[in-house]
Amino acid sequence: MTPEQQRAYFAKMKDSERKSLFKKLSDTHRTGLAQDTIIHDYPSIFRKTAQNKGCMGNEKGFTRFDKNGNPEKVEAVCGASTQAIHDHLKQKLGNDSSEEITGYYQGIGSEHSFAIPTDLDDEGTGGMVKHEWVKLPDGTIVDGARGQFLKDNLKRDLTKKDRLKFIPPMSPEQAMYLPRTYCKKCGTGLLPNQSCRQCELMDKLTKEAKKRGITVKELNKERMEQRL
Ligand SMILES: [Zn+2]
Repeated sequence: MTPEQQRAYFAKMKDSERKSLFKKLSDTHRTGLAQDTIIHDYPSIFRKTAQNKGCMGNEKGFTRFDKNGNPEKVEAVCGASTQAIHDHLKQKLGNDSSEEITGYYQGIGSEHSFAIPTDLDDEGTGGMVKHEWVKLPDGTIVDGARGQFLKDNLKRDLTKKDRLKFIPPMSPEQAMYLPRTYCKKCGTGLLPNQSCRQCELMDKLTKEAKKRGITVKELNKERMEQRL
């Protein structure tokens, strides 16, 4: 069977049959079918993305109206598109072990995005923005909001090809996508390679209090009084 025939066969199956077959396939195969589904059903994913973002989505792209009723282009739709893509996969293929990933993007074109920059920018690492994407079963990244990383003059006539990008597991571009990590102790979200300042401070206080034979609470009170 050619991939085309395979796809047609797969599409014809009943939802329940398709979902159960999908579960049994290898990660590579599941990723391929998930990719096909996303590409094929992109118009519906596009509409859902606009809906999630609370803006208009038509052939002109994503548009929002500001306070004065002036239209403005919106391409930083990573959260909205990630949710739309993942919801679509769940609906079409069942619980398919694709994941929504929250993290950061640091790479080509990040300076053109209006997404929220991270505080790492203050430290001069430059161009890291908050980002979200879908991870397919074999680790392939699906970025449904790549349009934001294009130069402003290119943002006018974007197509599916500009907005939707698949990044295979072995691609060097995977390094531009940094999932958020969490502190093992307190669960706070952390930037890549960042240690938890809160827990570090707490450890320091605990050590000092222990050394002096007082509680952390007493030590804190003492410090507060010194500050007054
Ligand atoms: Zn912590």
